Parts: sequence; C-alpha cells; structure tokens
Amino acid sequence: MPLETLDRAVHRRGDAAWLRAQLVDSARLIFTWQGCNLFSFGERKRPLLLPTSRLTNALDFIFLGIRSDGLSLFAADLSESKTEQEALTLLGLTLDQARFTQLRQFDGSLSAEDRALLFYSRSMTHWHQGQKYCSRCGSPTRSEEAGHVMACTNPSCAVKYFPRTDPATIMLVHDGDRCLLGRQPSWPAGVYSTLAGFVEAGESVEEAVFREVKEESGVEVKNIRYFGSQPWPFPQSLMLGFFAEASKTDIRCGTELADVRWFEVAETRELLKRLAARFPHLDTIARRLIRSWLERV
Ligand SMILES: [Zn+2]
Repeated sequence: MPLETLDRAVHRRGDAAWLRAQLVDSARLIFTWQGCNLFSFGERKRPLLLPTSRLTNALDFIFLGIRSDGLSLFAADLSESKTEQEALTLLGLTLDQARFTQLRQFDGSLSAEDRALLFYSRSMTHWHQGQKYCSRCGSPTRSEEAGHVMACTNPSCAVKYFPRTDPATIMLVHDGDRCLLGRQPSWPAGVYSTLAGFVEAGESVEEAVFREVKEESGVEVKNIRYFGSQPWPFPQSLMLGFFAEASKTDIRCGTELADVRWFEVAETRELLKRLAARFPHLDTIARRLIRSWLERV
C-alpha cells in the first residue's frame, strides 16, 4: 500500500531556513535506538511521535516529509545512548511510558501508514549509522539535504553518498494447483514461505528469480510476472514480488534452505494462517503472494 498521507517534499530538503523553522514549531519526531522504534508502553501500544519540545540535546535530524495534516516529520537516532533507559531519559520518558521495540516484534496495532512511516525512518537512521565515514578515503561524512545525502568532508575527495536500497526477489512458484514453498533452518517448526533472494550485481530481477529458484529448489521457471513490492528495512531491502510458473518440477533442495517442497491448496491455506500468526501486524508480501495465488487457483 503506498504511503499516500506523506508528501516527501523533496524540494524542501535544501531549504535550511524552512527546515529550522519546522523544528522550532510544528514538527513531530520519530526516534530510533539501536535499530528499534519508539512505541508507547501499556495497554494501548502505538508508535510515539514526539513534539520537538521533548528534545533535550542537539541531534542530526532527517527530514521525512509533510503529513496530510501539515505537520513536518523528522527521524532521529539515539543509538549513541548505551541503554534504552538512557535514550528514553533524553526524551523525558520512563520505561513505564515507552519502549524501543524491534518493529518485527511489535505486538500492538499498526496502521498501514504508521508501518510505512516506521519503515522509512528506520531505513534512514540505519543508513546514517553505517555511513558516518567515507568508504573511499576514510574521512568523516556530514549530513546534507536534510539527511538524504552523506557527503565526505575531505575537500579533495568530496564523494556524496545516497540512501541504499538492496533489491531482493520473492516469488511464488506454481505448478497447476500446487505451489513451491521452503523453510529456513532458523524458522519455527512447520513454517514455510515463498522463496526469496537478493539480486546480484549485473543481473536483472527476472534472472535473479530464475537463479534463486533453481539454486534453492532445483526447479526451473518460466512466465515470470511482476506482482508488487514492499520495503523491508531489516536492514535495507526492497522486496520485489513475482509469480513464476514451473517448467521443470523435480526438487533438489539447495544448501540455503532446511526444506523445500510442493504444497497443495488446502495445506497452503493452513500455512497462511501460521504465517499470519508469526507477524500479526505485518501483512508481508509473502503472505500477499500466497493469498493472491489461493484466490485465483
Ligand atoms: Zn572521502
């Protein structure tokens, strides 16, 4: 689902005076600490967006955009704090009021807009954490364009770095009324999902789909059709979803998966329930692929 309620306002990223004014008056801040997002703690868990008055020290802010109600949103990272308590204290909060939680483990309710916003802020703060130094000359970098560029501070180098997204493929392979699903060794017993893998350098996404399916299962595919995409900021992937039809159906499980096999329709419906229970608030693209296939088969 697109994030329709946020205008990224790219033209404002270079407008320092406007950005400063937003931070004084009307901004809301989205905080991360060591890869975790800030949520209220208690009966009704929800993402916490704080007014700038909560801020007790200077931080590097990343401008995310303008919400439909006119409020500007910024992301900021508190990972320099050694403990969660220390990070919360900076915000005037206690452990009874708020917690930094891994987005994947969050068990409260999360709207599609909130989820997209948290994905966006987490991706950006993660990228800032890993781009503090120039990978060409080793000098420190500095944040520009409201956090959307990290520039090398060495004038004779002056390389600019942009936020990274790693494309990955995720595909539902089908053969008539059965589909191909696999399980990673670390997953809970009985959980299977669609096959997935990163796109390699110099490879088209369709080539990556063919190669990954063959490597992981021995199955060969044809008629690769694009389905849709989902940002997956763990840490910085973009999942590109596909359907693919099997052309050679014999299975030979590769080294990455604990098991891979064909599933009939009824068994796939049961599996979908198990996947839903695993990440209740995340309608993952794997689930959407499986659901979409079940609706058509
Ligand atoms: Zn440099």
